[in-house]
Amino acid sequence: MEEIIRLKPYFSHTIWGGSRLREEFGYPEPGEDIGECWGISAHPNGDDTVVGGAFDGQKLSSLWDSHRELFGNLEGDRFPLLVKIIDAKADLSIQVHPDDAYAGEHENGSLGKTECWYVLDCPEDGRLVVGHNAQTAEELREMIAQGRWKDFLREIPVRPGDFIQIDPGTVHAIKGGVMVLETQQSSDITYRVYDYDRLQNGKPRPLHLSQSLDVITVPARSVQDTIVHAQHTPENQLFTLCSGRYYTVSKLVVRDLCSVETHAPFLNFTVYSGSGMLNGTPVRKGDHLILTSAVHQLRMTGSFEAIVSHV
Ligand code: ZN
Repeated sequence: MEEIIRLKPYFSHTIWGGSRLREEFGYPEPGEDIGECWGISAHPNGDDTVVGGAFDGQKLSSLWDSHRELFGNLEGDRFPLLVKIIDAKADLSIQVHPDDAYAGEHENGSLGKTECWYVLDCPEDGRLVVGHNAQTAEELREMIAQGRWKDFLREIPVRPGDFIQIDPGTVHAIKGGVMVLETQQSSDITYRVYDYDRLQNGKPRPLHLSQSLDVITVPARSVQDTIVHAQHTPENQLFTLCSGRYYTVSKLVVRDLCSVETHAPFLNFTVYSGSGMLNGTPVRKGDHLILTSAVHQLRMTGSFEAIVSHV
């Protein structure tokens, strides 16, 4: 059975995107507004293509449908996760995602969106919006209706190596200059709460205030419960950043020689720095791979770092 599936990412162009995905990750994508690299995705809005091997040219969604053995014969009508690299040259809109129950009912049977971020790079004063300061539903409505964004939004300072879990119902936004690797449920449902009054093609992008008020959690979860400072993690082993209902996400720092066992049905594997070898295959920064159920042991050499996830 095929051990390693290599994927060609889909790119999304946005008003807040930049050119770092091309310049620093080497993706051959033109444009100065590249916001997102969907590195591991079978979502209909950006279904990745397999490169090389027995399944060359196939879409990941069709591989999921026709070769479920690669994914440990997991059940489910769609590939469950989506891994992105996000380059926020400017601030992303303030947004919130629904959970499975709300999305299923109001968004055509879509999944909800639980997501998490590993901060790859950011300026000295890098910041993210995570949560808000309203204490009651009443206060939440007032602050939004009156546009008291400075009082409402909870901004936190971040550094490269910070990891943040974003549950559905959490008001959040990536601020300009921050680059993150996002692991999420395979969903594309976003409710925009505030867009800094920006214009796109001369018009403001739509807001989704009533849906946002339906799904925002009040009061917000404490920041301490959602952040892991993962700058200095042990080398040559999978270091778990979070493990929950939808995914387990780990950081892997490979130095010289490394061997790791896995019992997961499959692993999403994104290299975000360095280069080396993985089970006889060269890997380097920017590579997005799926290690299939045929892989029980990861044998690695070189010097590289990766974010690894599974369901
Ligand atoms: Zn989000």
